[in-house]
Amino acid sequence: MSGAIAIAGLRYRYHDGTEALRGVSFQIALGECVGLLGPNGSGKSTLLLHLNGILPDKIADGGAVRIAGEAITATNLESIRRQVGLLFQDPDDQLFCATVEEDVAFGPQQLGLRGEALVTRVEHALGMVGLAGYGHRATHHLSHGEKRRVCLAGVLACEPTVLVLDEPTSDLDPRGRREFKALLQGIPATKLIATHDLEWVVELCSRVIVLDRGVVVADGPTVEVLNDEALMLAHGLERPHSLRHHHPH
Ligand code: ADP
Repeated sequence: MSGAIAIAGLRYRYHDGTEALRGVSFQIALGECVGLLGPNGSGKSTLLLHLNGILPDKIADGGAVRIAGEAITATNLESIRRQVGLLFQDPDDQLFCATVEEDVAFGPQQLGLRGEALVTRVEHALGMVGLAGYGHRATHHLSHGEKRRVCLAGVLACEPTVLVLDEPTSDLDPRGRREFKALLQGIPATKLIATHDLEWVVELCSRVIVLDRGVVVADGPTVEVLNDEALMLAHGLERPHSLRHHHPH
């Protein structure tokens, strides 16, 4: 059983020679919600881009990344992308249609949805992210936070079984963070979430994986890992305030 996501010895070097991933391995079981932590430049975004085959020269690499047991190859890329919904760090990298509804409809259209079924799917997704009625708005006039929610609606509209999110709360206000947490809790997909928002991770994820300089330096129960002050400091992180009353043994 290889789980929803299985990564084995994944390495990645950018064209300029930067070694972003230096042998990353872990598995995530079906339905798990896992936080991916680490300082800037530790390889989080690079790792997430591998989960639906966005970094093209890796596709032929044979088995380093598996989704639901299936290695990502050039021939099954489409089926992988049906399963994995990826929310980019920067919404401007993800949005490319003139209006909100066109953008949210793009993914489900690729999956073959048309007519009333498509309209219903788009409206439902916009409602889930709190943007009901925004369909006709021009995407380039939205605030950064609204753009991010449009991107999320576009991802959710494809009903992925694996949800991969890169810094999803970085521009949300406290209410937005709470609402987004509740939204994610209501979605049964397997989730892997890269974030610096450790308080939010404590509430949402039962497990965290810590990356530093392209390797996994910790992988375990959230409270246990985040309570390890020496580990956290060694990797540019900070023990969250909400855990200060939990004394490590
Ligand atoms: P994180 O998401 O944890 O901040 P990244 O995956 O963005 O980390 O970056 C990992 C490493 O790869 C860093 O050293 C970064 O500078 C480098 N890197 C990221 N994108 C590129 C790129 N397009 N070209 C060259 N190096 C890159």
